[in-house]
Amino acid sequence: MAGLFDEPSVSYVQVAVERGVDQFPDGLTYGVPQRLHPLHVGQLVTVPLGRGNTPTKAWVIQTATTSPTLPKGKETKQVYEKDRDAIVLPDDLVELANWMSQYYFTPIGPTLATMLPGPVRHGTGLVTRQFVDIAEYPTQHIKITPKQQHVLDILVGLQPTERPIEPNALMKLSGIGSRGPIDRLIEHGQLTCHHVTRVEATWFRQSVDTSIPDQLTDEQTSVIENISSTLSGYSSHLLFGVTGSGKTEVYIRLIERAIVQGGTALVLVPEISLTPQTAARLMGRFPDKRIAILHSALTKAQRHQQWSLVADGKADIVIGARSAVFAPIPKNQLRIIIVDEEHDHSFKQDQAPRYHGRDVAIRRAWMAQCPIILGSATPSMESWWNATYRNVSSLHTLTKRAPGLVAPDIEIVDMKYERKHGEVGNSVLSEKLERSIHQTIAIGGQVLLLLNRRGFAPWIACASRTCGWMMKCEHCDSSMVYHRRKPLEEAGFVRCHHCSMEQRFPKQCPECEKKIIQLGAGTQRVEAILRESLQIPSEQIARLDSDTMRKSSDLHAMLDQFGKGEIKVLLGTQMIAKGLDFPNVQLVGVIDADTAIDLPDFRSAERTFQIVSQVCGRCGRGEGNAKAIIQTFSPDAAAIALASKGAYEQFATAELAFRHSANVPPTTRMVRFIVRDRNFEHAAGRANSLAERLQSFADEGITISPAASCVLPRIADRFRFDVIVTAPTSKQLQSFLTQARKSVSASRDLVVDIDPISML
Ligand code: ADP
Ligand code: ZN
Ligand code: ZN
Repeated sequence: MAGLFDEPSVSYVQVAVERGVDQFPDGLTYGVPQRLHPLHVGQLVTVPLGRGNTPTKAWVIQTATTSPTLPKGKETKQVYEKDRDAIVLPDDLVELANWMSQYYFTPIGPTLATMLPGPVRHGTGLVTRQFVDIAEYPTQHIKITPKQQHVLDILVGLQPTERPIEPNALMKLSGIGSRGPIDRLIEHGQLTCHHVTRVEATWFRQSVDTSIPDQLTDEQTSVIENISSTLSGYSSHLLFGVTGSGKTEVYIRLIERAIVQGGTALVLVPEISLTPQTAARLMGRFPDKRIAILHSALTKAQRHQQWSLVADGKADIVIGARSAVFAPIPKNQLRIIIVDEEHDHSFKQDQAPRYHGRDVAIRRAWMAQCPIILGSATPSMESWWNATYRNVSSLHTLTKRAPGLVAPDIEIVDMKYERKHGEVGNSVLSEKLERSIHQTIAIGGQVLLLLNRRGFAPWIACASRTCGWMMKCEHCDSSMVYHRRKPLEEAGFVRCHHCSMEQRFPKQCPECEKKIIQLGAGTQRVEAILRESLQIPSEQIARLDSDTMRKSSDLHAMLDQFGKGEIKVLLGTQMIAKGLDFPNVQLVGVIDADTAIDLPDFRSAERTFQIVSQVCGRCGRGEGNAKAIIQTFSPDAAAIALASKGAYEQFATAELAFRHSANVPPTTRMVRFIVRDRNFEHAAGRANSLAERLQSFADEGITISPAASCVLPRIADRFRFDVIVTAPTSKQLQSFLTQARKSVSASRDLVVDIDPISML
């Protein structure tokens, strides 16, 4: 298609294509013909892609006036068209995407795609309609073709009420076969364009909580004063406050001060639906502010609306989970960022780009030159290290629970001892926990039970001791988990939690034809035990895990019922540890505190500490008893013993010493390369040669582990090997990655995980 390049290019742009075909890290370069010049960063264009020059949508990420140097024999292609109706991305987001793309080793196209909600990216949900009218002051005098003149004549002849008019209608009226003449008239300023988008200002106001504490505590006051003195310019703060110490109140006061002159506050929470109270409290306390809630349950139109409103600078407060860190709040308007429960792993995305919402938030605060506050009762080791050893952020502490809240009385039950001496038949709940559940319900209290394992039974095995058969997934190196269809019915199926494959429950052992038994307990089994052996009526029990919670409306309904006291026992996975604040919870039980502790992951102790502390913090939020019972097979493990004493600092000090000696984060920085392949030898071979190649870039300080089989050696028929690289600082790690990028690129078969959060 020689004609394609007939017009000379007057400028050049670099663009990002959504699918990962763009070159790293700068995108693809195209020429801009006069008729499209100038293009701006953030505009959506259509470019010819690949050998077939397939028209493909792309975002402009850089503009240049001179032609780039290209390999010999290669010509710069030209942009086909610009999308006149699409939203233009704010510069700040493009800048952030550039940074993320570098930092997280991901091409810029997919990075931008992650940052933008689907409906915004694809222009769906909202109806943006374009209207045209005669320009009052035509900007350019051009030669007008007869067709164009005809269009103008028709337009002049219309009644004033019929104008402005949609281009298609004008096309029909003037009987021209294409939009071309109209478009040319727009380009040359003979016609003006009006865009009418149906964006209604729908600000959310549901189930608000308007209670205001009579008086701040001394600790709250001093934290607020200290942070307030840094409200202009970038600063980073860690708010370490025990559960129930009134961190939310601190956030509210800081937001008040930060947005007083029309600025915007960004609040990130782990999962909106699990922390509805934070949102409700903010809405209650800022009744006349415009609050945008970026929630996964929004409709396409709502998403698009909220995004546009935020981009127009119309929101005072934006609340959302991980991806809300990309809320298009204009840079000069962003005044404060708050990351609540900053330790929560849901802030890390587990697909490319594998970004951490908290860390991107820190970058954003720096770009916007505003303060960022990370809050937690159990700060991540990263944030603790930053605040206490590296002094890159300031530490603020709330040591006491808010007035009226009592610290729970925490008791550890040694299940090894119980199994030997206990009299309980079910061996899942200790006698002590059973008794406490009964007592709590008898005096009108409510119970939270945590077991971090879904399904009914995590293992399926042959009943014969000599046989030893266990049911494994055919596609993964993992056990199949038994799920009941309904809690009280025997009928069920088995499912792999890694690839989701489902199968029937085997009738007999395939090896020896003996009976099959189910071992261990998941949340479904606990539910059955509560009903069958504790005789608690079904309607008083609710289970909260990712099997029951497919929709956030279900969750809403369940939490509502729990709040009203209709549900007496709420049991669930780590989802119930997140931020629930119900004053009548008088007993918290942790059924198996060891689910994480034995995992071969250097964060297993940290995770165990967090989950035990967090769930214990769910009680003692009102009058009445506050008791927590922790069942464990390793009562002496530091994570459990110290969590039960509320000794975070002691735990953190010891943990950091361990991390340092083991050469793992946060005292070093890490990147994990995971090679995946259907063929075992290929996987091993590719991983080995990767490790060798990486070795050749390694400067001093960089450590590269030999390639090794992952803890989960096979998932979904793919063998997995990893190579782990550590560096003393982020800067060193990034400069290593810059080298590596020359010969390594991430793909479906090679995961590059910067600051990995899971080592499995
Ligand atoms: P955290 O987020 O630290 O776990 P919250 O902010 O949820 O704690 O506060 C726990 C409870 O204490 C809430 O019900 C809150 O309204 C209340 N509270 C906070 N500050 C005070 C105060 N100064 N006086 C009385 N109650 C308070
Ligand atoms: Zn599987
Ligand atoms: Zn058998």
